[in-house]
Amino acid sequence: MIGIQEYKVFSAHNYEQIPQLIKQLTKDQLWAIKVVGTVLPFKVNNYVIDQLINWDNVPDDPIFILTFPQKEMLKEEHYNLVDQALKNNIPQLELKKIVNLVRATLNPNPAGQQDHNVPVMDGQRLHGVQHKYDQTLLFFPSHGQTCHAYCTFCFRWPQFIGDKNQKFAQNETDDVIKYLKRHPKITDVLLTGGDPMTMNASRLRAYIEPFLSPELEHVQTIRIGTKALSFWPYKFVNDKDSEELLDLFRQITEAGKHLAFMAHLNHPAELKTEVVRQAIKNIKDTGAEIRTQSPIMHHINDKACVWRDLWNTQVQLGLIPYYMFLARDTGAQHYFSVPLVKAWHIFKEAYRQVSGIARTVRGPSMSAHPGKVEIVGPATINGEEVLTLNFIQGRNSDWIKRPFFAEYDEKATWLDDLKPAFGKKRFFFETELIDDVKLN
Ligand SMILES: *Cc1c(COP(=O)(O)O)cnc(C)c1O
Ligand code: SF4
Repeated sequence: MIGIQEYKVFSAHNYEQIPQLIKQLTKDQLWAIKVVGTVLPFKVNNYVIDQLINWDNVPDDPIFILTFPQKEMLKEEHYNLVDQALKNNIPQLELKKIVNLVRATLNPNPAGQQDHNVPVMDGQRLHGVQHKYDQTLLFFPSHGQTCHAYCTFCFRWPQFIGDKNQKFAQNETDDVIKYLKRHPKITDVLLTGGDPMTMNASRLRAYIEPFLSPELEHVQTIRIGTKALSFWPYKFVNDKDSEELLDLFRQITEAGKHLAFMAHLNHPAELKTEVVRQAIKNIKDTGAEIRTQSPIMHHINDKACVWRDLWNTQVQLGLIPYYMFLARDTGAQHYFSVPLVKAWHIFKEAYRQVSGIARTVRGPSMSAHPGKVEIVGPATINGEEVLTLNFIQGRNSDWIKRPFFAEYDEKATWLDDLKPAFGKKRFFFETELIDDVKLN
């Protein structure tokens, strides 16, 4: 029996009420959660605590590290600053200053998202929308900009701490519809957040129904980026509005659209419970497909056997592996990032152990400013050791599928760390990018 669940949420204010945590951690460890949770977003719920975390394995448990702030996520000098501020009980306003100072060092706006991807229509910037790649429009419905729990590595962390400047939000679908009508090349609308699946069914319907209009025939796929399957599967099983939500999914597929769930799944432990399996079945029964993606993260899933099991379990449950990402250059990247070459080794080791059915997955890939860059792998060309790279997506679609080469570098964790191979000054796309920045 799955049973009805009441949603209970914990944060830096009340985490000391979690009995498992108190039993398992020392006083110092509990305090570290407070310090880090003051700087970076922290929210976890009773499903994650009771059913996903293996408390015998805490503090090393991957789901624990995925949801509870870790001391080393802050650099030592930053940790000490906030630690002292809290211990000395300094006034709220001063604390805020210190916290903002630390946050500002964590590159809150990676990959130029705010400057480069917001489209302009009739002379107005379309807030709440990003249009980077020809076929796909990202839409951030204003009511879906939170999550059922927060991932410690989240690159969208600034929007959860209430920094208005960093938010992408959209009150109205109208402008989006207008924009779509003028851009017949767009085939995909991707609702994202936060997590759009934090909205109730009627709100979600208000956002999605307009996309089903006959005037938007060119929009063939509606994607929903979500972690609800893993953080709150009851949403699709026995929440108050579950039936209504599943009816909405059915309405989308019956209107002839492809409904694609882009499920964020980091570890096979997330796919073990009875309720997640029921949720998957209910979603698939509406005619929707579930594709999956995850970043590769140190301390959470940086082992080939984890990815092999993740992809195999997904295939067994009818999910389609889609992306392995690299940790973005923001937030606690120094704690979570896996070097590009190491990520490639892990990907390859896992990929060779699964059948072709699971090899729909692509990566490891970085969502960098010029596009989604795949690490194809190391090679030796004319005696020079290089790293072969490839655009899966490009700011300019002509860049896609053009292999290019960087000097081999085992320590590099991001595109910016790489140097062009063969003594070249720039990568082929960099000249165009300089022009692109000027245009903006
Ligand atoms: C990843 C991404 C997409 C979707 O790309 P697909 O390869 O079609 O999955 C769209 N827009 C942005 C900004 C992205 O980062
Ligand atoms: S579910 Fe996605 S948006 Fe939400 S905290 Fe996790 S990574 Fe960030």
